[in-house]
Amino acid sequence: MEPVRAVKGMNDVLPAEMPAWHLVEERFRALAEAYSYREVRTPVVEPTALFARSIGETTDIVEKEMYSFVDKGDEALTLRPEGTASSVRAYIQHSAWAEGPVTRWYYLGPMYRRERPQKGRYRQFYQLGVEVYGDPGPHVDAEMIDMAVRLLEGLGIRRVTVELNSLGGPGTRVAYRDALSGFLSPSREALCPDCRRRLEHNPLRVLDCKVPTCRQIAAGAPRITDHLTAEDRSHLDGLRRMLDRLGTPHVLEPRLVRGLDYYTRTLFEIKEEGGELGSQNTLVGGGRYDGLVESLGGPPTAAIGFAAGIERLVLSLPDGSANPIRPAVSVVSTGSATLDPAVVAARDLRLGGIATDIDTRGSSLKSQLRRSDKLGARFALIVGEDELSRGRAALRDLGTKEQVEVPLSKPEIVDAVRTAMEKTT
Ligand code: ATP
Ligand code: MG
Repeated sequence: MEPVRAVKGMNDVLPAEMPAWHLVEERFRALAEAYSYREVRTPVVEPTALFARSIGETTDIVEKEMYSFVDKGDEALTLRPEGTASSVRAYIQHSAWAEGPVTRWYYLGPMYRRERPQKGRYRQFYQLGVEVYGDPGPHVDAEMIDMAVRLLEGLGIRRVTVELNSLGGPGTRVAYRDALSGFLSPSREALCPDCRRRLEHNPLRVLDCKVPTCRQIAAGAPRITDHLTAEDRSHLDGLRRMLDRLGTPHVLEPRLVRGLDYYTRTLFEIKEEGGELGSQNTLVGGGRYDGLVESLGGPPTAAIGFAAGIERLVLSLPDGSANPIRPAVSVVSTGSATLDPAVVAARDLRLGGIATDIDTRGSSLKSQLRRSDKLGARFALIVGEDELSRGRAALRDLGTKEQVEVPLSKPEIVDAVRTAMEKTT
């Protein structure tokens, strides 16, 4: 029979790759909690209307990338393509604002977009992200961008550029839209078919197109920063001043827009230079969305957030960042008479906090020792009949080949292994 294969663009992450994933996830978790964020977990499936109303009807994500379906109860549902809409829905649904004026949430989890799969771009991918509700900035904007940079730095991802822009408030956006339409219309025929459509409904999207000719045309477009109000401008200046103070270099990128409609004012992306990700080198994307909570039915609430693709972070890690997981001890039995006490000893070591492997099949001594080597265990605990008769076993350092006798009883066995471990490190 033909074996069933995973859905195109949806990947298995096998145990050998997991140490790198855990490194990224654990660093992020620790950093987010150090910054006083708390984790929120929302469902992977949401009503389709949530994304149409927040991300925007004429964005690529909503127009062509969503996994939407009607379930057996006739509800229109969608696998979430990003985390912010769900987070805002939860913030409103649970009246999170009632607990305090400022809410800091972080999340990690899978997202779904039906894009063309390639390196760094998948149909199921994982994001980590943060959101702050109730602080209009600009200090929190700077703090958040700096935090993202420090996350990358902590992971050893060094050559990164922070690109920054401001989209201003809704008024700015309307004025800019007109200016942009006016500029792009004469080049209409040279744009890709998608952008010709975007020009009608959502000209800002043209600036985000990845087709080279569109990029070329867009490079000469008017700058949104020329349309900012005095308040927008002082917000942007305040943010840049604070970033300087925090020691985080950044460049102003007046044509940076992003693939979602809900942004206002601050917008940023962090890219890796010269890595292997090619045009998928945007590691982090984020921005302010001061109107979204209210537009989804909550109270007027300023908000800002970012998300990073975990696969892209894993691909950008320097070689050798994450070590394979190795057991400290491999318990080896020398015959059928010693397998029972060997299994007990393994259990006692494990509960004593010592990572321990054992071949419970009763294999030959030779094959067990081969396995100890293959797993990279530091010690073999050899349970032989002779030692066993005295309530003891042999602890062999697999590096130095030195061997000592240790008691097999609990808790002495745990202490003896710990002492030996301390000696070798
Ligand atoms: P891109 O411009 O690369 O398409 P985006 O602007 O669509 O990214 P966001 O929606 O801002 O991305 O998501 C934030 C981050 O999530 C991206 O910077 C990237 O690291 C990651 N990401 C987005 N889409 C994918 C995908 N299809 N596969 C893997 N990672 C992704
Ligand atoms: Mg995209």
